[in-house]
Amino acid sequence: MQMESNLQIEKKSDKYWMWQALMLAQQAADNNEVPVGAVVVRNNEIIGRGRNQAIGACDPTAHAEIQALRDAANNINNYRLNGSTLYVTLEPCGMCAGAMIHSRIQRVVYGASEPKAGAVISQMQQFDQPYLNHQVAHAGGVCAAECSQIISHFFARRRQEKLEKRTQS
Ligand code: ZN
Repeated sequence: MQMESNLQIEKKSDKYWMWQALMLAQQAADNNEVPVGAVVVRNNEIIGRGRNQAIGACDPTAHAEIQALRDAANNINNYRLNGSTLYVTLEPCGMCAGAMIHSRIQRVVYGASEPKAGAVISQMQQFDQPYLNHQVAHAGGVCAAECSQIISHFFARRRQEKLEKRTQS
């Protein structure tokens, strides 16, 4: 009995997985990309990782979520990701929400909301359309402060750098 409970793997929390996504967002920031990170989790394990790299990859679709979905599908050799949860630091845009529906992901958890372009609750409710035959469960606000801070720090730093350049010349 004792042995059995010791062998049980503790189910990790949404916060735990969001921190993994945040670390990928930091990698994006280090590469001068808008810091958004995402992981795909299934059976308590990461099967896909992504970070925003639209500029570096010269690819307008290279958002963190798309990268994570591609990585997961590659890793499990299946384009359907049923039973998986995608964690992303920022509320997904319309393109990424659409890709998640195509991937048959079960659940999406995001950190900060994106009032300008968010497609989960802010500007659209893309997952809640009655015509869809695949339902995606969604939740927001996990580690929201950290997730929005990493973005505001990034833009503040960029403004500062521009200002310094201007005053130097
Ligand atoms: Zn997107």
